Amino acid sequence: MSQSSSISYSDLLKEIEAGNVQSLVLIPLRREVKVKFNSGESVIYPTFQNDQQILRAAQSSSTPLTVKQKGTVDYSSTATTFALFFVFFIALSFLIKRSASIANKTLGFGKTKARINSLDDSEVRFEDVAGISEATEEVKEVVDFLTSPERLIKLGAKTPKGILLIGPPGTGKTLLAKAIAGEAGVPFFSISASEFVELFVGVGASRVRDLFKKAKQKSPCIIFIDEIDAVGRQRGAGIGGGNDEREQTLNQLLTEMDGFVDNSGVILLAATNRADVLDSALLRPGRFDRRILIGLPDRKGRAEILSVHARSRPLDESVCLNDWALRTPGFSGADLENLINESAILTARENKLSVTNSEIEKALERITIGLQSSQLQDISKKRLVAYHEIGHALVAMSTPLADKVDKVTILPRSNGIGGFTRFSPNEEVVDSGLASKAYLYTKLVVSLGGRAAEIIVYGNEEVTQGASGDIETVGKIARDMVTTFGFSKLGPQSLDSSNSEIFLGKDFLRQKNEYSEEMTKSIDHEVRKLATSAMSEAIKKLEKNRELMDCMVSELLDKETLNSEDLQAIMENYNK
Ligand code: ADP
Ligand code: MG
Ligand code: ZN
Repeated sequence: MSQSSSISYSDLLKEIEAGNVQSLVLIPLRREVKVKFNSGESVIYPTFQNDQQILRAAQSSSTPLTVKQKGTVDYSSTATTFALFFVFFIALSFLIKRSASIANKTLGFGKTKARINSLDDSEVRFEDVAGISEATEEVKEVVDFLTSPERLIKLGAKTPKGILLIGPPGTGKTLLAKAIAGEAGVPFFSISASEFVELFVGVGASRVRDLFKKAKQKSPCIIFIDEIDAVGRQRGAGIGGGNDEREQTLNQLLTEMDGFVDNSGVILLAATNRADVLDSALLRPGRFDRRILIGLPDRKGRAEILSVHARSRPLDESVCLNDWALRTPGFSGADLENLINESAILTARENKLSVTNSEIEKALERITIGLQSSQLQDISKKRLVAYHEIGHALVAMSTPLADKVDKVTILPRSNGIGGFTRFSPNEEVVDSGLASKAYLYTKLVVSLGGRAAEIIVYGNEEVTQGASGDIETVGKIARDMVTTFGFSKLGPQSLDSSNSEIFLGKDFLRQKNEYSEEMTKSIDHEVRKLATSAMSEAIKKLEKNRELMDCMVSELLDKETLNSEDLQAIMENYNK
């Protein structure tokens, strides 16, 4: 197998298109493509981060292309005999180890289950972790410590001992930890804290001891404890007595961390999405004293993450990942990966060659709203749903500050939703994360537009429970406006009581409401005032446009889905 790339990248593309290539194996994690020419020659080429060109060339010339997610070893014929021997030996030693481990299990069950992921296993690199560049920058220093400690120690720097990655699920904490190990090329011991907590008292503690012992032998290396809140919860606050096992495990962990000498070359990483319940002893200086927050990605970040996951899938040229990033506010890295995955599945199902906007659209709807149902609806229900949805849309269209309407549909979904109105979020608000009082109030009015239309058309007694989701949204926004953002006459004070989820951690003992009965009443009063005034504004807007509303509804009943241009056209026609 030759490693040299004797022809240029553009020539390679031409060769593929001309059909001179027998097969291609793409390994995105290694940024490599293995090219087997018709002549029998095999060449490995480096590829780019998101290499759409190769995918398209292969597609157009129908050259077979395989994507390997892991860079598994691939032996060419000369090495086959050797490989077979190798495999045989591995299998043999595996068998021996296995019988030993069975013996171990029955005799001593304290051995750590931590997986040792050696260099070869962690093929994740920083460029695979997209959209969280600040966190990535911060951990680059760790890589420096692991790869060239002498240089930094000479400068008087001290190794960070414990680094805690904090962020919501699916934002890439585990991925980032793997990337650190991959970049530094050091062994990576990873264990999920929930694995520590097992049946027998004392097992967790001995696992911790064992894990640290193993790691010290392999220094420099990384220990990664995932979901550390499983053992690291605040001690002594459980209901009906604490969990002894968990506390012992935590104590052992603290002892081991204290026993670390500086610059020992072992770096402890941990991840959690519940930093607020962690025992304060864990966060003290000398333990997890470095905390890195990983938030949900912003729009630019989402575009980067989409592009990372699209690198092994052929995208149609019309697809603009930036646009999709705009339409996925609040999505985590894992959600975005799922979106690309679903689109690819749909593309395959439709026997298309490349992913187009229409598949991504369908996948997004499926993820956010649910599958389209084939069930037929009776016409009177359809009519009601149409009025409800047009209510939302029309209120939004007649309010300058509101989000733009993207699409209205009365095609029912299998999860019981009769129809929906989708908005394209305001780019400015999404990017800055700042919403004005007026913007939030507009949101209330638009959310109540559906119910308002039902009231106007069917009367106060005939309204349906179909708006319950909207009412919930309104309640939440209005309460936030009063208690968290200080947007009411109660003034700028924090009256937050939403943190009422019960955790066995330190939150539990906290007083739920830190203000008086009276204040509770005033809050309710203010919330109600906001909601009723938003409701009457929505009704006013729709009553003024009753005829236009009827027009839109009959069009919607006819076509079942209207996009923003359709709605705009109806409005212009009507105003003529
Ligand atoms: P966490 O540990 O924060 O819950 P993971 O690291 O397990 O999340 O992420 C799950 C998957 O989602 C990853 O394997 C990856 O495919 C994708 N993902 C999450 N965040 C990112 C990111 N920032 N960049 C690229 N892919 C991501
Ligand atoms: Mg994780
Ligand atoms: Zn609604």
